[in-house]
Formats: sequence, structure tokens, C-alpha cells
Amino acid sequence: MPLFDVERARQDTPGSQHILHLNNAGSSLMPQPVLDATIAHLQLETQIGGYEAVEQRQEVLDHAYDAAAKLINCSRDEIAFMESATRAWDTAFYSLPFKAGDRILTSMAEYASNYIAYLQLAQKTGVVIEAIPDDAYGQVSVEALRNMLDQRVKLISITHVPTSGGLVNPIVEIGKVAREAGILYLVDACQSVGQMPIDVQKIGCDMLSTTGRKYLRGPRGTGFLYVRRELIEQLEPIVLDLHSASWVSRDRYEIRSDARRFETWETNYAGKIGLATAIDYALDWGLENIWRRIKELSYNLRTQLSPIPGVIVRDRGITQCGIVTFTVEGVEPEEIKRQLARQQINVSVAVRNSTRLDMEARGLTTMVRASVHYYNTLEELTRFSAAIAQIADF
Ligand SMILES: *Cc1c(COP(=O)(O)O)cnc(C)c1O
Repeated sequence: MPLFDVERARQDTPGSQHILHLNNAGSSLMPQPVLDATIAHLQLETQIGGYEAVEQRQEVLDHAYDAAAKLINCSRDEIAFMESATRAWDTAFYSLPFKAGDRILTSMAEYASNYIAYLQLAQKTGVVIEAIPDDAYGQVSVEALRNMLDQRVKLISITHVPTSGGLVNPIVEIGKVAREAGILYLVDACQSVGQMPIDVQKIGCDMLSTTGRKYLRGPRGTGFLYVRRELIEQLEPIVLDLHSASWVSRDRYEIRSDARRFETWETNYAGKIGLATAIDYALDWGLENIWRRIKELSYNLRTQLSPIPGVIVRDRGITQCGIVTFTVEGVEPEEIKRQLARQQINVSVAVRNSTRLDMEARGLTTMVRASVHYYNTLEELTRFSAAIAQIADF
């Protein structure tokens, strides 16, 4: 097994010198090349003007589509850049045609923003939202999904990796079911892109959304959407402008034929360049390498935390990813987060409102979320576990 050059990863990560960052599922530490590329564009805007900066950096901006396409194995015209994963997901979701009685099948670990959109649509149009039960491992049960299918199912919408744990849903197997049944398939890959290899051809999804700031280590306020070529022209974006469409005669407009029909004209160009740089940077490390390293670190962390009296690791699923969740008997996660912050350790708190179906089913209200990335070290995890042992032993 090739060794991961963690020294180089840390040299590239200024934040890792003074903070133990285990909030990569919230927002990862940006590597220096990403910061440099982002700032360079802002400087160029300052020096020569915003429009002129775009002209000068056109090649780099064009490259962003190639980088994203390479990352998830699609073509450049299937990518739209957005300001967040939520915008990307919403843009796809709200452009789907539904009518009363249509069924949307989703996962128990669904992200709140997605679920709120389902609820809004249900109220407006009378679509029916149903969560596919989990299997014995806590993953979406592919068998249960099969049994739920009928003519009324119009969308299968799955969160690949939830915000609240190590679970990795079987999106390839779900994709096979969706393809066989000819049902549209939307994947929220917000926590998995950048953490593990993602191949939309293998997944067989029609749409996929992700963010820049999490495992991709890009700037905040960035994300992108993938829409499968054959579907693009069937989806009418709910919002159009002079970039997504063109005003071809006095009373006629034409919508673009590529996925950029979901974008808007104005965008954060520095952020887009930063995200493209982050994607190149991730590709440079290799997603297989990154994924192997993250699994190794998170396995180590769970193994260190589990034996601590009072600590219960809460992650589910057969393959577990870099998001480690746990509770400590008698100590609120918010208090743990505060105590860790005093030791320059960053974690976050997973709350019920973010993944309500799953948390309710498991009788949980909050958990500590410690999410590792490849630049974290075994020494850091040992230091972290010692800090938790101390907090648990109150
Ligand atoms: C964070 C997250 C989102 C939202 O991403 P934004 O970039 O904040 O819009 C969506 N889905 C999951 C599973 C997430 O963890």
C-alpha cells in the first residue's frame, strides 16, 4: 500500500499548523494553492476590473468545467456551477415536473434542506414523500426500495453520505434499481465528493449535487450540479436569465442546451477558480488514495473512542467514511464542543433538525461530529481521544 505523504499535505495546509481540525464535514481547511488562486483572482479584479479579469482568465474559468467533469466522470456540458450544494440540488429538484399523487422515494438519512423542499412541494402539488426503510446495517434497503416501486414513483432521491455520520448509502445498487425501472434518480453527494471516488456513470444517476467547502476543500459559497446529457433539455429551470437563456426576438427566448441553463449570469469568479483549483488538487492526490487514507483514519478514531467509558460511537453502515459521530454519557455535545475549542480542537454538533427521520428513529437528539480528512494525523486522533476521555471522566 503506498504511503500517504501527510507531511506534504500538512505543509500545504496552513491551518493544520495550529488547529486540530475535525470539522471537515462542515468546512475543511483550504490548502494553500486554493487560497492563492482565489486571492489572485480578487487581486486581478482589483487591478484591472472584474469583467476584464474574466476575459484574461477565460481559459482557467473554462477549465473549471473540465475539472468537475473529470472528478465525477461526465462531460463538461453536464456541469453547472452554483453557490452551494443546496442551490445545486434545489435547481434540479424544482425543475422536475410532478403532479398530485406522484411518489418521491427518499432515504432515512435525508438532509433537512432536501426534506423541507419535499414538504413544500407536497403542500403545493400533492406529491407523496416516502422514506425507504433502512436495512439491518442502517443503510437504505435496496430490497425495500424494490418493493416500493410502482407506476407512481417519479423520483428516487438519496443522500449518499449523511451530514450526521459515517454511513455510506449503496448508491450504485440503488442506481441499478432506478435504471431498470426507468425512474429519475437524484443523488445528494455533498459529503462524498472529494472524500471518495464518485463516478456518475457507475452510479447511474440523472442528477447529482455537491458543495465546494467540505471534502473538496474549496472556498465557501461554491458548489456544482451534474445533470445527465439526455435529461438537460427536458428540464426547464424555474429561473432564467440572459446567461441561461437568450432573448432571440422581441417575444421569444431560447434556453441553453447545456447544463449551464441552471446557472445565472453573475457568479463569484474567484470562488469558481478556487473550486476548480481544489478539484485539481484533489485529483492530484487521487481520490482512491484520499479515500483509503480517510477510511484508515476514521477507523482508527472509532477504535480509540469506543473503549472510553461512557462514549458510544453512533456511526452506521457497512463501509464507514470520515464522519465520526458519538455521544458521551452525561455531557452535552455542545459542552464537549466548547471544551475542545479551548484546546484548539474543532468539531461540530449533529442536531436532530438536520436529519430528523434518522435521528428520531434512533432516539437521538444531538451527537458530537468529528470528521477527519487526509491531512489529519494519527497523533492528532490520539490527542483528540485523550481529550474526550478526560471530558467523559468528569
Ligand atoms: C452540507 C450538506 C448539504 C448542504 O450543502 P451546502 O453547500 O451548505 O448547501 C446538503 N446535503 C448534505 C448531506 C450536507 O451534508
